[in-house]
Amino acid sequence: MLVVLSLGKRALVRRSCIKALTLKEAIVQQLLDFDRAAMIEFAQGLGEKPFRATQLFRWIHQRGLQDFEQMSDLAKSLREKLKTAAHVQALPLIAEHKSKDGVIKWLFDVGQGNAIETVYIPESDRGTLCISSQAGCAVGCTFCSTGYQGFSRNLTTAEIISQLWFAEHTLRKQLDQGSTQQRIITNVVMMGMGEPLQNYDNLVPALKIMLDDHAYGLSRRRTTVSTSGVVPMIERLGLDAPVALALSLHAPSDALRDELVPLNRKYPIAQVLDACRAYLRYAPRDFVTLEYCLLDGVNDQEGHIDALIDLLRPAKGANFPCKINLIPFNPFKESGLKRSNPAQIKRFSDALLDAGLVCTVRKTRGEDIDAACGQLAGEIQDRTSIHVRRAKGKVISIATDLS
Ligand code: SF4
Repeated sequence: MLVVLSLGKRALVRRSCIKALTLKEAIVQQLLDFDRAAMIEFAQGLGEKPFRATQLFRWIHQRGLQDFEQMSDLAKSLREKLKTAAHVQALPLIAEHKSKDGVIKWLFDVGQGNAIETVYIPESDRGTLCISSQAGCAVGCTFCSTGYQGFSRNLTTAEIISQLWFAEHTLRKQLDQGSTQQRIITNVVMMGMGEPLQNYDNLVPALKIMLDDHAYGLSRRRTTVSTSGVVPMIERLGLDAPVALALSLHAPSDALRDELVPLNRKYPIAQVLDACRAYLRYAPRDFVTLEYCLLDGVNDQEGHIDALIDLLRPAKGANFPCKINLIPFNPFKESGLKRSNPAQIKRFSDALLDAGLVCTVRKTRGEDIDAACGQLAGEIQDRTSIHVRRAKGKVISIATDLS
């Protein structure tokens, strides 16, 4: 049976993946692509009322169902239409690795030789999922394994949300918690592979699904987007989906940050901090998390400490509202970089605390399965020639042009 969908113009503009169907062109819609507003438009295209879309949304995201036949409160006629017009297609799992400290890393196939990684980090009072937003990353940070792999493509909304869908429902079954009352994943960090704000159009609907009470119902305070500093998109995120914000800072000066986070050449530190400060008008928290990966002899010396304090607690002007997360570097062979020694990490942390800054040192988790921060590296068919550019010292912020 062919189903004719008559979607409004607004839907076609807002979501290019929803296309009006003709009798000659039937498209099976991937329902993991739809936030609730898009699901309602899709349902209306099938001649259904908006509440049917909400029911469908709950079956998929809260109950983890893919088979329309099992969605017992949907009318039989709707189930028949859905079988022809839609599917709920999760990402194929390639591998699962479990760390001795409880961290789980999943490798998912995203096609054409690309694979991405997702990491679950259990703690006594929360379950955090670190989600990837791109197959690879074009920013090319020197301390990041993903950055060394290059960039293939943006993930779709379905591919982003599929990571949460899979983790939540797989872990529920494993932990024998079939109930919808208790969530396994309480926190999401967009800190996996990729620069999320370089995949903005697919990120925002995924965030809306995460926050939706009819789906995962995550708190905005417990949903964090981490960025290397894509200034125009920081401003837009505040309007579209204001969640907690983390900035990958990693250096106190433009000269050093240009080397460590090449996007800095396009958006220097002062501009990025201004955008972050403005973002706080919309954010669920009154601070931005600053991530600072400590690299032995590169950004961990006394001069770097002083410069960082001057940057965030300037003698003139307002303090920058932040919490600093110091991350001991997780080495990988291509980088040639080393982790700062424990004494230097403590010295760095103590100096920031003495200066009145809020600062924590991130506990490394999942190191034995290469799941720690900066170690994620699926399989990427690079189309950026990043290795050539890196060899020529020309790793620049082409990420903006690619997205
Ligand atoms: S740290 Fe983030 S932005 Fe930088 S290369 Fe890695 S994934 Fe990309």
